[in-house]
Amino acid sequence: MKKDFYEILGISKNADAAEIKKAYRKSALKYHPDKNPGDKEAEENFKLAAEAYEVLSDPNKKAKYDQYGHQAFDGSGGFGGGGHGGMNMDDIFSQFGDIFGGGFGGFGGGGGGPRRAKGSNLRIKVKLTLEEIANGVEKKVKVKRKVQAKGVTYKTCSTCNGQGQVMRVTNTILGRMQSASTCPTCGGSGQILDKRPSEADAQGMVLEDETVSIKIPAGVVDGMQLKVSNKGNDAPGNSVPGDLIVAIEELEHEFLKREGENIHFDLYISFPEAVLGVSKDIEAINGKVRIKLEEGIQSGKILRLKGKGIPSINGYGSGDLLVHVNVWTPKTLNKEQKQFFENALNDEHFVPSPEKSEKSFFEKVKDMFS
Ligand SMILES: [Zn+2]
Repeated sequence: MKKDFYEILGISKNADAAEIKKAYRKSALKYHPDKNPGDKEAEENFKLAAEAYEVLSDPNKKAKYDQYGHQAFDGSGGFGGGGHGGMNMDDIFSQFGDIFGGGFGGFGGGGGGPRRAKGSNLRIKVKLTLEEIANGVEKKVKVKRKVQAKGVTYKTCSTCNGQGQVMRVTNTILGRMQSASTCPTCGGSGQILDKRPSEADAQGMVLEDETVSIKIPAGVVDGMQLKVSNKGNDAPGNSVPGDLIVAIEELEHEFLKREGENIHFDLYISFPEAVLGVSKDIEAINGKVRIKLEEGIQSGKILRLKGKGIPSINGYGSGDLLVHVNVWTPKTLNKEQKQFFENALNDEHFVPSPEKSEKSFFEKVKDMFS
């Protein structure tokens, strides 16, 4: 049984980004191998904390984890690039740049050569219909990206000699440490503007429209974020672009209601239809589905159409379509009809006598969530 990520970091499920970061920083310092040489248990805790932080610090992964737990990351498939699990020490140390503000740098030695600067991320919202969510969709969106202007040139930064980092000695609770931090002159790219075309900004950038194609997998949830690598802004010099972060927004459907992977539909039938039985076409997500209602069907009955819901984002099958039967009671009657029902008042056929097998509303609700 794998330990809960929140438990590992000792935080509540409501912890915000700052609290998550703080909790991880605390665990990382406590279990750091340099402080616990040869202690296998500390090393294991150190790795677990890193793994927990990797998931909880990423809104997309966090949303999946909150919904599906550890199984969200088990096995292959899924989206956003493979499972994680079993991080190695290098991965963990490379995280530290973000957490410890660069000041901590390469803990166990070995700061690498010139680091390529990364441009900033762009964010967009994509609105999806329930049909698009159920089937997955490829969306083309227009984004305005900062790119390096035509004819721009950069030269090696003299502050850091093109390394993008400057060395500095800091006092930390782990002792004096020589560490690398981002060069203040070039911002880490190792290069500064040389020739600036007139239309470019101070960093040699211009705004450019680009159409980006985004593959959205079936089963996404409102608020989920997908990442399109390298479709954010460029940075100066020899750099890599940032990412395009795509937030999913689910549009409300006219008459289908989504609840996780299940879909609910309210079906209204007339009183005679309930008495005599009827076949009805239900507008499901991917076209009509015919259902047969037996004679004497009760209002409140729920019919479950297996697999006609939303596919699981992890590829584990699909939810169901739940059809709620509502018998429509007429509000006005003509004279003969009124006479008919007045006679029916004393007719034993019309006296309610629910059978034991007919579940009450409360039992049905209990079933739906089990
Ligand atoms: Zn520099």
